[in-house]
Amino acid sequence: MKLTPPKFKNLSDMAAIDVGQLKENQARKILENIRWKDGITCPHCESKDVTKLKSDKKKKTRDGVIQCNHCRKQFTVTTGTVMHSSHITLRQWVQAFYSVCTHKKGVSALQLQRNLGLGSYRSAWYLSHRIRLAMREFVVPGLLKGTVEVDETYIGGRPSKRQALTEDKETRKSKRGRGTDKAPVMVLVERNGRSVSRPVKNVTGETLKSAIRETVDKKSVIMTDEWKSYRGIEKDFEGGHKVVNHGEGIYAVGIVNTNTAESYFAILKRGVHGTFHHVSKKHLFRYCDEFSFKWNHRRVNDGARVVRAIEGMEGKRMRYR
Ligand SMILES: [Zn+2]
Repeated sequence: MKLTPPKFKNLSDMAAIDVGQLKENQARKILENIRWKDGITCPHCESKDVTKLKSDKKKKTRDGVIQCNHCRKQFTVTTGTVMHSSHITLRQWVQAFYSVCTHKKGVSALQLQRNLGLGSYRSAWYLSHRIRLAMREFVVPGLLKGTVEVDETYIGGRPSKRQALTEDKETRKSKRGRGTDKAPVMVLVERNGRSVSRPVKNVTGETLKSAIRETVDKKSVIMTDEWKSYRGIEKDFEGGHKVVNHGEGIYAVGIVNTNTAESYFAILKRGVHGTFHHVSKKHLFRYCDEFSFKWNHRRVNDGARVVRAIEGMEGKRMRYR
């Protein structure tokens, strides 16, 4: 029998205070409605022929268990998502998603632990990384179009871009100590549109240009500063390559500027330095995912952004040792 999840208020219309008072069964309805808009679907075999089981302490049937009548397997709303096999309640999941998606600068694991009353810092930390995984948007080739600004920066206390540019980046790179947490991050951002950001292993032409080719549509215009690694990229794009010369103190020549990329980095740095204090190289990409997601969904209201993030939970599993 085809089943639609029981209706509850739309999360996108709910205020923070209502989200804070959710009961477990209400949170379940919210998650089921977001995950299964077209009816409950078995995550094992995709059949819609399912039956909800009644929770039964004697038979050890937990709340929310659904039986697939096709493959006979059981599942819940968390099966096969970032929420899979976690000890966090559904109410806490919804509240955590809400909190992470509505704070522009991000929420630290410590804040989450306090706000949700979680037992340990460790579970708050896993929870926030799982939410970032849900926010991860996979890049399709040619995704970014039109005028695309490209820039790189260092996260973790590197000298400012301006200082760095007065010296040779290659020399600076070789000076970087081993074991430091400073890492180059690249952003590609459409004027008034979407963004993609990620840590890169270095800032050589090979690395930066291949990232541009992978992400940006061939008809686009590429805008960068004068960093030499970008030279020659015009060959690959019909719109060519426009360069703004920061080294000479020029930050914008009419429409040729990288102001959008710079405001992206300003927000990312404020988050990483202000909220998270210490971000290891290993996990930096997760913060990039979070900030790109927020940037890409900045024009929708808070609740709608939370729903988008929860929609991203499907098919993503996080495993730790
Ligand atoms: Zn099935």
